[in-house]
Amino acid sequence: MNILNHIPKSISKLHHTILPIGANGSYIFTESSKYLDLTSGIGALSTGHNHPKVVEKVKLQLESYVHMPQQIYKSHPIQIELTEKILKIMPNKKLDTIFYVSTGSEATDNAIKIARNYTKKSNIISINGGFHGRTIGALSITSSNLNCKRGIAPLLSNTYFCSDDTKESLDILLMFQSAPEDTAAIIFESVQGEGGVKSINQEFLKYAEKICNENNIMLIADEVQCGAFRTGSWWNFTQKNIEPDIITFAKGIGSGYPIAGVVSSSEIMNNLSPGLLGGTYGGNAISSAAASATIDVLNNPVLQQNVTEYGTYINNALKDLELIQEIRQYGLMIGIQFKDTITSDIVNKLRDRNILVLVAGNNNQYIRLLPPLTIKKKEIDIFLETFIDILKK
Ligand code: PMP
Repeated sequence: MNILNHIPKSISKLHHTILPIGANGSYIFTESSKYLDLTSGIGALSTGHNHPKVVEKVKLQLESYVHMPQQIYKSHPIQIELTEKILKIMPNKKLDTIFYVSTGSEATDNAIKIARNYTKKSNIISINGGFHGRTIGALSITSSNLNCKRGIAPLLSNTYFCSDDTKESLDILLMFQSAPEDTAAIIFESVQGEGGVKSINQEFLKYAEKICNENNIMLIADEVQCGAFRTGSWWNFTQKNIEPDIITFAKGIGSGYPIAGVVSSSEIMNNLSPGLLGGTYGGNAISSAAASATIDVLNNPVLQQNVTEYGTYINNALKDLELIQEIRQYGLMIGIQFKDTITSDIVNKLRDRNILVLVAGNNNQYIRLLPPLTIKKKEIDIFLETFIDILKK
């Protein structure tokens, strides 16, 4: 069977010739070959493929129970265990209430619902270049690449885009389009992933935080891609000294098992209308077990130091190469911008030499690296040697 005739062609496949049949650590295997996987399942496989601690915990959970819907029971042991662990990695005690869902997009949609319901206001402001998901709600505030939202309007109303991360742009938006008294939330990706690995300016975020505090506007940090230790701390916004009202997480927290969440204060969460939140699979027990093991793996000081050191190591090895315009590197979240339009050529040549990378940007013009946070130095060296050799040729 040619499977490509039976799945939608509208899923644009970056490595459309690769048919993996297995995976382990930093590698995926096809029938005839093995590939160094620097895509990590679009950042979800923070602990690499099949980390033994994750596998062991999931197996144990499988034998115990799989599914205990949140709308039926008080809670269940693996949810209690995971919640304790997530609360410990929250930056402050105010963020004490977690609503579990399965995907980053759902987390975004629910963050919008929470902000609107709590503030009794409608408008949502996001930052140009941000990606927040593919459900209708999340797409409505996404602007990283038009291809994912063409031809499906109408999307949500009352959404506004701040043209860049400067105070002036936010002031203009609040003055002419979305008055503070009509604005429910400002949502930001502290490091924009799909948009091209672009870090949002700290001064801008501090200013947005002040505006939010003064006007009963929820500041929402979308940490779906840049969170879960990807950039060298549990959450990227803590590096910018920001205190959001609402945080969304997903991807790297679950090692590839679908789990995501929205975290806020009990003050906010418990002021919502009854019945507002729910969902059959949110906080699924198997995914919760995977997340619990993932947090343990990522809580290792050696791994945490490696995220910072290896990131800098890659940056230093590449930044002065002739064809490279800019390296944007935050821990192991790395964007590579070239001087010429050679990105797709380089991606193909890397694949020919058994290395898989991601792209990012509104035109797929940047290479994006999201290696497993468990990657080994020698695996990084394989990438660097190959990449530098390709660029030289
Ligand atoms: N927010 C961000 C920052 C993301 O990078 C993504 C996924 N790329 C999402 C939300 C949506 O997550 P999901 O694909 O799990 O729905």
